[in-house]
Amino acid sequence: MRTIKVSKPINNKNKKNTVVKMPAKNKTSWDGYSIKPRKEMPDGLWLACPACQHMLYRKIVDKNLNVCPECDAHFRIDGPTRVKQLVDVGSFEEILADLTSLDPLQFEARGVKYKDRIKVDDDAKGCEAMLTGKAFIRGRGVMLAVMNFGFLGGSMGMVVGEKFCKAVDQAIEESLPLIVVSCSGGARMHEGVVSLGQMAKTSAAIGKLDEAGGLFISILSDPTTGGVSASFAMLGDIIIAEPNALIGFAGPRTIKQTIKIELPEGFQRAEFLLEHGFVDMITHRKDLRKEIGRLIDYCGK
Ligand SMILES: [Zn+2]
Repeated sequence: MRTIKVSKPINNKNKKNTVVKMPAKNKTSWDGYSIKPRKEMPDGLWLACPACQHMLYRKIVDKNLNVCPECDAHFRIDGPTRVKQLVDVGSFEEILADLTSLDPLQFEARGVKYKDRIKVDDDAKGCEAMLTGKAFIRGRGVMLAVMNFGFLGGSMGMVVGEKFCKAVDQAIEESLPLIVVSCSGGARMHEGVVSLGQMAKTSAAIGKLDEAGGLFISILSDPTTGGVSASFAMLGDIIIAEPNALIGFAGPRTIKQTIKIELPEGFQRAEFLLEHGFVDMITHRKDLRKEIGRLIDYCGK
């Protein structure tokens, strides 16, 4: 009987910055992925870093917590991915998962009804603009609220407000530290004044937590802007920002046009805010879990 030696598929793992030629017609052998002929780039397998323009293999980026292995740029991640990265495996118990907006204004923009918009976004991402639940982070019990930018830009409407306040209530009842990860463009215009009301509602909830002696760690990721930065995101007992995150209220262009002066370099970035005392620390994504655990212990919660 004849034995045939089969050559191994190309291993890309240890070759940074090299262009790997893909086999032209082989449809399944390359790293176990099914691939198209090399004329087209397989969708989603590679991505270009928006900061350093390096072509990156998505699997490696995922493994690296969605941080560019070349330049350390922290990519935006959706809510479920953030939860997975932060909590101890399998420990997240979601609350109010099925909450949806009531569309109080029967809002419609560019021929698309808001209630249809939420359905589409709901199908695509499987959750609203915030996920809340109880979890463990390095063995410490916490109440966690994570914003989901993939759903209407992580905008704050009545669902976000309600989920947030329930999380705060449960944190008070069970004496758990509250950890919130913000990633949002601000209040949700589709809900008009109802969305603006959430700023007061969430801020009042944090006031209650403070009176009860609770601990609130606010984590600001890119971007944290508008009504979210102007309410609960900036009310943390400890405010942590991710490197180079955009944090502010109005966008730099709007401010520049309004006050008509040149804005300083790095304006509204995490490092600038740290320098000016608006955030307490900047933490690399790989150290977030460790840092949260350390802060909870330090505060004796
Ligand atoms: Zn990069």
